[in-house]
Amino acid sequence: MSREMPPAHPFDDDKLKEECGIFGVIGLTDAANFVALGLHALQHRGQEAGGIVSHDPELGFNSVRRFGYVRDNFTRQSLMETLPGPLAIGHVRYSTAGAKGAAIRDVQPFFGEFSMGGAAIAHNGNITNANALRRELIERGSIFQSGSDSECIIHLMARSLQRNIPERMEDALRRVEGAFSVVAMTRSELIGVRDPLGVRPLVLGQLGEGWVLSSETCALDIIGATFVREIEPGEMVVISARHGVESHFPFRRQQPRFCIFEHVYFSRPDSIIGGRSVYETRHQIGVELAREAPVEADLVCPVPDSGTPAAIGYSHESGIPYAMGIIRNQYMGRTFIEPTEQIRNMGVRLKLNVNRALIKGKRVILVDDSVVRGTTSRKIKEMILDAGAREVHFRIASPPTAWPCFYGVDTPQREKLLAATMSEDEMREHLAVDSLRFISLDGLYRAVGEAGGRNAKCPQYCDACFSGEYPVAPSDMIEKGFELKAAE
Ligand code: SF4
Repeated sequence: MSREMPPAHPFDDDKLKEECGIFGVIGLTDAANFVALGLHALQHRGQEAGGIVSHDPELGFNSVRRFGYVRDNFTRQSLMETLPGPLAIGHVRYSTAGAKGAAIRDVQPFFGEFSMGGAAIAHNGNITNANALRRELIERGSIFQSGSDSECIIHLMARSLQRNIPERMEDALRRVEGAFSVVAMTRSELIGVRDPLGVRPLVLGQLGEGWVLSSETCALDIIGATFVREIEPGEMVVISARHGVESHFPFRRQQPRFCIFEHVYFSRPDSIIGGRSVYETRHQIGVELAREAPVEADLVCPVPDSGTPAAIGYSHESGIPYAMGIIRNQYMGRTFIEPTEQIRNMGVRLKLNVNRALIKGKRVILVDDSVVRGTTSRKIKEMILDAGAREVHFRIASPPTAWPCFYGVDTPQREKLLAATMSEDEMREHLAVDSLRFISLDGLYRAVGEAGGRNAKCPQYCDACFSGEYPVAPSDMIEKGFELKAAE
């Protein structure tokens, strides 16, 4: 069965969207309940659909995959009773590869039955050579069940000659290019893997006798698990009741290139990345931004919610008072109302409202995390001016987004990105604001903890959406005609 889904945010298509969150538990009674809670905490990473697979020693594997929010599906007792056992993994998705508004068959985790037993996998990221792999696998007899790039991993595992599932997974993942954090399970093992560059996050936690794998630490907190450590780039952990946590490094070691945008926007501010809270990093981005792009004004206001920590940082550093000049309606969800033409025209007003009493007659600095198409920025500026602001200055907590992401983030085509077609000055004119400044790439690196800024010869992070320097060549896209940035 398939059905069309409306976009996750019909009034907010002007943000990059993280595509997936993954979570797994071993060694806890009714593990699927913990997975449901973990996925709920990771819902910001994907709102289109979710799925859970569990394993019970007597009842075997069971799975449930549903469209919609975790809270609307996986809180129902009757449904959770169909997912028994001490081992479970889960996935929330938007959608990257696989069609948008996709069928239930594209919803993960995916399951495969092998001669040595079953295995389920949940993948966060994007396989950049998936088209080539899919062609090869189909020619050799594989029958695909979905349009998802992640299914390639199951078919590659089926073709491997290794003796056990973790070894088959290693084999499969050596063929895969791009970004992947994977949580997988066999009948008795929970497996976690990060790609050699560690583009997407994955952390290990512990709860009593049980072990937990999660995209972010905020999802450990919700179940009361302790954060143990990040899974290292290129590391595979195999966790079982018998052997505890075993660590392997099956890939050639490389300089890690974690996604710098996780710091800016994707991860929740209460998560910990690289030993520091994401909130603290975003605050520091605001501090750097204030140093790089000062301006005389009366108020610093965030574009809620994602601009808030950087706006507070900007205010602290500049000494200009912070104020909630824009209020977000927290209850503006997908299910609220059908986005008819008339409703669409109300646009951003359905979600954001200006605090007129604060704004009137003021010179306002608006801090946002990014500018993608620029459509929302323009509307927000109009709302602020309508409310009587004297000046509007945009300060952006990331460099201009001029290149699409091919590593598990939904980005418009390059020509739709404002920064791909306009200079900073042209963007200021286009948005018709008094000033517009983005944090520099070096400033962003300093804010995330690299005191010396970006190492141009060997960048410490993936920053391809800003720099156009892709750490893994997006071979499927190049085949379709995508042009890489010319060497300087
Ligand atoms: S291209 Fe941008 S969003 Fe994508 S992984 Fe790299 S830094 Fe993150």
